[in-house]
Amino acid sequence: MRSLRNKTEVQHRRSIDVGLVLLACVVLPPLTGWAMPDLLSSAHALTLTYGVSLGIAALSLNLLLGYAGQLSLGHAALLGAGAFAASVIVDRFGLPMYVGWAVGGLAGGVVALAIGIPALRLRGLYLALVTLVFGATMQASVLRWRFFTHGSSGASLPRRWWFGDHILINEPIYLSMCLVVLVGVWLVDVNIIRTRLGRAFLAIREDETTAQSFGIDVVRYKLLAFVLSGVMAGIAGALYGGGIGLVTSDEFGRELSLRIVLIVVIGGIGRRWGPVVISVLLAIAPTLPPPFRRYDLVIAAGITLYNVVKLPEGLAGLIAHRRAKPTGPPVDVEQLRELDLAAVAGAAAPLGGGTVLIVHEVSVEFGGLHAVEDVSLRVEPGQIVGIIGPNGAGKSTLFNAISGFVPSTGAVTLDGVPISWAKPHERAAAGLGRTFQNVGLARDQSVRQNILLAQHHFASYSDLAALAYSPSARDVEARLAGLADEVITGLGFEEYADTPVRQLSGGQQRLVELAAVLATGPKLLMLDEPTAGLSPAAAENLAERLRQLRDDRGQTILLIEHNVPLVLDLCDYVYVLSAGQLLAAGTTEELSAMPEILGAYLGGEVFA
Ligand code: ADP
Ligand code: MG
Repeated sequence: MRSLRNKTEVQHRRSIDVGLVLLACVVLPPLTGWAMPDLLSSAHALTLTYGVSLGIAALSLNLLLGYAGQLSLGHAALLGAGAFAASVIVDRFGLPMYVGWAVGGLAGGVVALAIGIPALRLRGLYLALVTLVFGATMQASVLRWRFFTHGSSGASLPRRWWFGDHILINEPIYLSMCLVVLVGVWLVDVNIIRTRLGRAFLAIREDETTAQSFGIDVVRYKLLAFVLSGVMAGIAGALYGGGIGLVTSDEFGRELSLRIVLIVVIGGIGRRWGPVVISVLLAIAPTLPPPFRRYDLVIAAGITLYNVVKLPEGLAGLIAHRRAKPTGPPVDVEQLRELDLAAVAGAAAPLGGGTVLIVHEVSVEFGGLHAVEDVSLRVEPGQIVGIIGPNGAGKSTLFNAISGFVPSTGAVTLDGVPISWAKPHERAAAGLGRTFQNVGLARDQSVRQNILLAQHHFASYSDLAALAYSPSARDVEARLAGLADEVITGLGFEEYADTPVRQLSGGQQRLVELAAVLATGPKLLMLDEPTAGLSPAAAENLAERLRQLRDDRGQTILLIEHNVPLVLDLCDYVYVLSAGQLLAAGTTEELSAMPEILGAYLGGEVFA
């Protein structure tokens, strides 16, 4: 059933692609002046060209803001870079305009990379300010270089059809070419969203720590988002410049930057149709009769306010909500009873045969507080090893040190490979699968998306293959989708496959997180309080599933758990942590013989 539905979904999406291309090639030419020269006046065609380039600029910012969650208030500078670079190519060197578009895109990408670097450290208001200043600086410096811009007289951008000659195409034909570019950018945007790239961007937008634990290189993908956005913006600038034929740096200032932000906010952050439609409307507005013309920005401001208050997802969100089906009540956590985690787990990465994890004298300090002090422990293959200790003992911090989320001293070795210097996403890729005490999922995304996100490292196609959705990318995605389906079926979550994770109950979210990590076939599965929030029966049941994972599949597990009887029942070996230090360690029999330790630090009542 499920795979059948998926297949039709894929076909459906493909038919949308084909439809868009057909639309571009068959329906647009009548507009162009080839077939119906009188349909559009040049003035109207110019207005629409402006709208279309604004639409591409909006898609560009939407990629950055809506997908990757990075605000840019200096986007106009990227359009400027694109327009002026195109002018050099077309006007100075006499190359055809589409070469100018490509070079404009390149210029936008390079400049965007420069804005992206501060974004690696800054976010929110600070990033917004930096991009604002960057835009203003670009406008006042680079965009005023005489080489680029011919100073205040402006750089001309002829619509040159072929090398050197002066056959310049008319406005309606130019408009149709811009529309074809818009369709192209749109398709690339669709491809981004349906591949590893889009999943990585969305995960970063929600929570960078979670993204890293899924094996996503946050630095790389943030920069990639800036570059892709810059390329789109550069192309938009080049198209816009070709429309009006002469550009000066004045056009690429704050006003345009804010206009683009406004368009994305009104149209719907993270959507495609909304921003593009608003772009065209905003371009048309000044040509409308007086009340609209005079008050277009006032109307836009009003809509923005309304949006922010009532429709945070913008125009497109409103339509999507109308169409969305309500989701049912959360399923009972008791469904754990039928849960077969082994069916969910991916092929575990082969182990070298030695100790899976060696932690050697690891310490973590938070401004004078020794959260973890000289802790050493080992996890042997096929064992379930437990870590217990009172609240604040440093258990989660130790997990963070092992998985690379906090700086620590000491050494960590995974399956014989030292990983102390590796970044979190590299440790995840090396086979360290972990869950978080407060559930590490991309909560705005569906169960399916999260499972796919966890497979980040199996999506082995190149970025270019992703952008083009090449057959290889398509095959890999189809395989991953099949895998995700298996996991979802194994979980018994078919009904919730496309439900945003935040709508699930806490217990369900834990299961999805566990399944997502398991599906990557980790060498070591690290679970931070997996039974928190589960009923006693469900907790007992989960323990049984974990035991099965160990016995049937040889899965190695390191487990933080506050439920001491459960730990003693389940684990092969247990470490007791208190105030950052190892207090005791031993097999469960050995520990049971030390009631004074367990009693003093964990509350004697649990043994009553
Ligand atoms: P546990 O998981 O055993 O309950 P934690 O590892 O969460 O304990 O916390 C151990 C100690 O480290 C606590 O005193 C906590 O307040 C402190 N701590 C944890 N994370 C941070 C942090 N990011 N910055 C400062 N102190 C922290
Ligand atoms: Mg904790």
